[in-house]
Amino acid sequence: MAIIVQKYGGSSVADSDKIMAVARRVVSTVKEGNQVVVVVSAQGKTTDSLIQQARSIAKNPPKREMDMLLSTGEQVSIALLAMAIDSLGQAVISLTGPQGGIMTDTQHTKARIREVDGARISAELAQGKVVIVAGFQGVTNTNDITTLGRGGSDTTAVAVAAALKARVCEIYTDVDGVYSADPRLVPDARKLDEVDYGEMLELASLGAMILQPRAVEVAAVYEVPIHVRSSFSQESGTIIREVNVVEREISVTGVASDENCAKITLVGIPTDVSVLHRVFSSLAAEGVNVDMIVQAGTATPTADLTFTVTREELETALDIIAKIQGDQDWSVVCDEDVAKVSIVGAGMMTNPGVAARMFAALDEESIQVHVVSTSEIKVSCLVPRGRYQDAVRACHRKFELTNGN
Ligand code: ASP
Ligand code: MG
Repeated sequence: MAIIVQKYGGSSVADSDKIMAVARRVVSTVKEGNQVVVVVSAQGKTTDSLIQQARSIAKNPPKREMDMLLSTGEQVSIALLAMAIDSLGQAVISLTGPQGGIMTDTQHTKARIREVDGARISAELAQGKVVIVAGFQGVTNTNDITTLGRGGSDTTAVAVAAALKARVCEIYTDVDGVYSADPRLVPDARKLDEVDYGEMLELASLGAMILQPRAVEVAAVYEVPIHVRSSFSQESGTIIREVNVVEREISVTGVASDENCAKITLVGIPTDVSVLHRVFSSLAAEGVNVDMIVQAGTATPTADLTFTVTREELETALDIIAKIQGDQDWSVVCDEDVAKVSIVGAGMMTNPGVAARMFAALDEESIQVHVVSTSEIKVSCLVPRGRYQDAVRACHRKFELTNGN
């Protein structure tokens, strides 16, 4: 019997009617002859309200306690869903992350799954039960509850699917698949039938927040196929798997954007790598993620270093830099009025001129570009925040993504 992992996000379990609808879908998957493990998120905006509640008490609450609080959201939805499935006459059991064997490291509020001990889940499946596992949470080897970062239920689902060697990990959400651009920005964006892991990783980490990027990383390593689909329809969505890009004629698959970035520039730092080294080691030690990095000014004794961080981490990053700076003779400027727009496609590797075409699209719209970064499968430009939507539309048009370029 094949094992199928189904993950339902917060909007899919937002109220009792929706929970019943999920229960019916789970039961019909069982009736089709599958063993089913369900991973659920907290209902609707529960996690947001818990965060607000915490902030109304303390500006910077201890992260361990934050995890203790946030993990309650998922515990509510697993219990309710179990009751709904039980009411349909199907044997079922709900398990918290710790009970489900989700072992993590100790980085509270953004822990990483170290291992999934699937013994309990397998034993329950063997007894003919549907197993519901709380998403987004796990436990350290010292028995403390952790959470996996926003959107972490996706990663729980993929990790469980990998551990159980499931046939597929279905991610049910309120959109019907992955699109060539955010359909709210580009109404004629196209639904993609399949996307390569590498592409999805870029699309996910570049703001098309359909999947937590970590989930895609885990899926790629363990070769778990992911099917992103709507919980409100029977249509098939987008399959994320290893795609043979050599045979692919399309060079650009999608355009992604990310508003959650801030630019920091260190002006006039020495060109030896001492400052770079110290700044990036300290940021890494505090878990601050750094993105686009550019250093310019090679023929002079000093250089300017520009990089981006998320807006939430800007304050922390500036504090860290201020400590390193001390009374050294360079300065720091930052700009929150930026957004990142990227074209993504595994077919780009073998296709020169893609970046040129992107710049042409931006130039035609007179959109300023602050920073450019490239990889084998993407070109990203940091643009003024006020123009990023135009930039997305311009690139989508230029690469004719509505029809598949
Ligand atoms: N409930 C968590 C969040 O809102 C985890 C998830 O939804 O995947 O981020
Ligand atoms: Mg999500």
